[in-house]
This record gives sequence, structure tokens and C-alpha cells, in this order.
Amino acid sequence: MHQLTLAEIARGLADKKFSSEELTKVLLARIAQLDPQLNSFISLTEDLALTQAKAADARRANGESGALLGAPIAHKDLFCTQGIRTSCGSKMLDNFKAPYDATVVAKLAAAGAVTLGKTNMDEFAMGSANESSYYGAVKNPWNLEHVPGGSSGGSAAAVAARLLPAATGTDTGGSIRQPAALTNLTGLKPTYGRVSRWGMIAYASSLDQGGPMARTAEDCAILLQGMAGFDSNDSTSIDEPVPDYSASLNGSLQGLRIGVPKEYFSAGLDPRIADLVMASVEELKKLGAVIKEISLPNMQHAIPAYYVIAPAEASSNLSRFDGVRFGYRCEDPKNLEDLYKRSRGEGFGAEVQRRIMVGAYALSAGYYDAYYLKAQKIRRLIKNDFMAAFNEVDIILGPTTPNPAWKLGAKNSDPVAAYLEDVYTITANLAGLPGLSMPAGFVDGLPVGVQLLAPYFQEGRLLNVAHQYQLNTDWHTRTPTGF
Ligand code: GLN
Repeated sequence: MHQLTLAEIARGLADKKFSSEELTKVLLARIAQLDPQLNSFISLTEDLALTQAKAADARRANGESGALLGAPIAHKDLFCTQGIRTSCGSKMLDNFKAPYDATVVAKLAAAGAVTLGKTNMDEFAMGSANESSYYGAVKNPWNLEHVPGGSSGGSAAAVAARLLPAATGTDTGGSIRQPAALTNLTGLKPTYGRVSRWGMIAYASSLDQGGPMARTAEDCAILLQGMAGFDSNDSTSIDEPVPDYSASLNGSLQGLRIGVPKEYFSAGLDPRIADLVMASVEELKKLGAVIKEISLPNMQHAIPAYYVIAPAEASSNLSRFDGVRFGYRCEDPKNLEDLYKRSRGEGFGAEVQRRIMVGAYALSAGYYDAYYLKAQKIRRLIKNDFMAAFNEVDIILGPTTPNPAWKLGAKNSDPVAAYLEDVYTITANLAGLPGLSMPAGFVDGLPVGVQLLAPYFQEGRLLNVAHQYQLNTDWHTRTPTGF
């Protein structure tokens, strides 16, 4: 039963082959048995799950239907969940129980989804390896000595290990697409503003976006359908109608123009990944796509710009965690200053402190023009590059990551080495564009992802291309040994 996709679960529930309660019990038992190897959950919500599953079964018995009605999922632990700990992977919020549900959580619950728990993540979503979590590193089910990617590494490892069919993630610079690539999943970062950020604990507000992580594009379509839509509580939410994503999956790729940026194939890319990317291009050509070389000339400036803008916004967003209003407070403060200093010094881990310092520095009066303003200008140039490219092509294709999953601890002493892993993903966040990563092969037994980018609000096009690719390939069906 644990091998079923969301689409298969929906059919099984509709045909009364099993109930949501039965399925939920099977998956909870599987999590109890296998998750100790992976550490993909921070909190399990067994009681809530069984209550939601029974309610979904009752709704189905009353004639209701819906692809998510009775479907087991989990939330990255930065989506606020009423009465349930929302830790953001940090000691700072270890004792934080949100007084309300994030919009994404509320929408999925209303659609009948069953929440099995809250998944592990890099602290405050800062990282690419899920090693900065206060709750310990997450392991990659494809090789337990390797990282699963981050920051949505718990969602990725859990879905890849068939502990559940799908989970939510968030992506500020690649945190859905990169762990999806490193664990053989399909993950979609929607257009900025497509999915409400209300109740999603902020890292870098102008870049953050929630989205689905699952094994197939078909399942990402189902989960995105439940997440997307206008929310008046989020001032950056966009009031655009949500199309029927599942209905767009079967469009023909005949004549689809795919752009492959020449800058993607530079020295940092593992040549074996380059070969798999080109093999995916050949596969799409067979389906009728035409390939064109394009250029994104400002791409090399993306990492420095991102690692100014994201920490700058983080330093502002995280100022609210001060030991007074939220979260952790140090023992026996001597005075107010001591309380602030020690609460923040003890509550935040090393990577979060590094980013707050970098961000505060970049925003300070003497350096604002040199760093922050400059980074914002680069951001515009990167967006302009994409706008020019999308005049010529319908989709941009390339690797999701320059390397497969690295060994636990391998990049710990060198944060910049980890930042470089984001080279292909962060441009979509800087420009606000939707991006999807899909399984495209293996290197040394570790999964490799191909990334597709599309113009604003063309999530349906991304899902269509990935679904057609998945109908003709079987990478996404491979299961890690032992799971
Ligand atoms: N790895 C990037 C960072 O550390 C992206 C993280 C994310 O998307 N949340 O900032």
C-alpha cells in the first residue's frame, strides 16, 4: 500500500479498495519502523491523522469525492499548525505552538488531506543539506551516508522512502527542487504569489514560496491544486484564477520550444549529470519538442546577489525572535541586553547566526548601496534575461544541481561550497518564476534531477512536460533499497 501514489490512492479510496483510516495506519506503522534510520520527521501527529482519516472516510461515505479526500501528507515544519509544535528546525521555536493554521495547512485540511506529521528541515530553511536542523541531520534513503538535500530534506526523504506519498515544501533558493533532485522526486516551486505565504514562517519574504513534493508530476498537480489560490491574508498573493492542473497533464509536446542555456554547462557541472540532462533532451525531442540553445548572460551573478538579498531579508524577519515575544528565552538573564543576546545566541544555530550577521551588515548605512542595492539591480537583470529567453522558447531545461547528493558533513566546514550547489535553482526565485525538478537518472546510485522553468503562472506547462516525460521513462518509479 505504501507504494501507491496520490492518484492511485484517490482511485483506491473511490473504489472502496481500502479506507483512509486503513491506509493511515499502515503508513504510521511504516514511519515508526523506518524513520529512525532517516530522521525525516520532527513531530508525528498520529491522533490528528486518525481523526482526519475517519472524517474523510465519513465524507466519502456521504458521497463526497476529491483527489485529496483521505490522502495522507505531511507538512514541512515551518507551516504553522494550530496547537501542534511548529519548530522551523530551530531550538528557538522548539516550544512554539502556533495559535492558527497556515493557509496552506487549512486549505489542504479542508480538501480532506490527512496530516501524518511535521517534517525535518534546515534551521529556518537555511541550507542545502538538511544538516543545520536542531533536531539532527536527515539521511538520504538512497544512501544513508549522504545528505537528502535541503532545506525541505525531511519531506524529500520521507516521500522518497515511501513513508507517505507526498508532502509540502518551501523554496527560497531551491529548497523544493534541490532535495527533490537528490532523492528522486518531482518537486515544484510555483510562481511567486501563487501559493499563500500566510502562516509560513518567513526566511526571505520576497523569495519564499510553498509547493508540492511527490514522486510524480501527476501527484504534484493534485497537491498544488489544493495549495494554490488567492489569499487576502498575504499581501503578495496574486488574484489569478487557479487552472485545473490535472487537466493540463496530457497536452501534446509537439512543437514545444525548449531552451537550453549555454551557461549551464560550465566547469562546476558533473559531466555525468550533463550527459543525463542531454539524454532527457533527446527523450523530449522524441515527443515532438524542438531544442534551441539560449543564453542567460547574468547567471554568474545570481549566487552573490542571492546571498546578499536572502540574508538581508532574513536578518529583518528573524529580529522578532528575541526571547520576549516568541520562542526560546535564556535562563536567568542579568538584564534586558543579556536576555536578548543570550536568547538569540543560544536559540539560533551557527548558520542562522552567520546569515543574520551577513544580512545586517549588507543593510547597514555604509554598505547598503554597495551590497543590497547592487544585488537588487542584479536581480532585475536576471529577470530581464529570462523575459528575453521566454520570447524565444516555452520552457528552459537544465540540471537541477551541479552534483549528486554529497556525504554527510562533507561541506560543513565550507559554507560557500554549499552555497554553490544552488547555482541552477536560485535564479527562478530571484525572478519569481515557477520551476520543477524531475528524476532523470542516476550517478553512482544517487539520483539526478532535471529542472524545467516556465513563464509566470505556467505551472501547468511544467507539469505537462514532466508528466509526458514520466509516461516515457521510469526513473521516477525507482525505489531506494531497504525502503
Ligand atoms: N540553499 C539555499 C539557502 O540556503 C536555499 C534554501 C531555501 O530555498 N530555503 O538559502
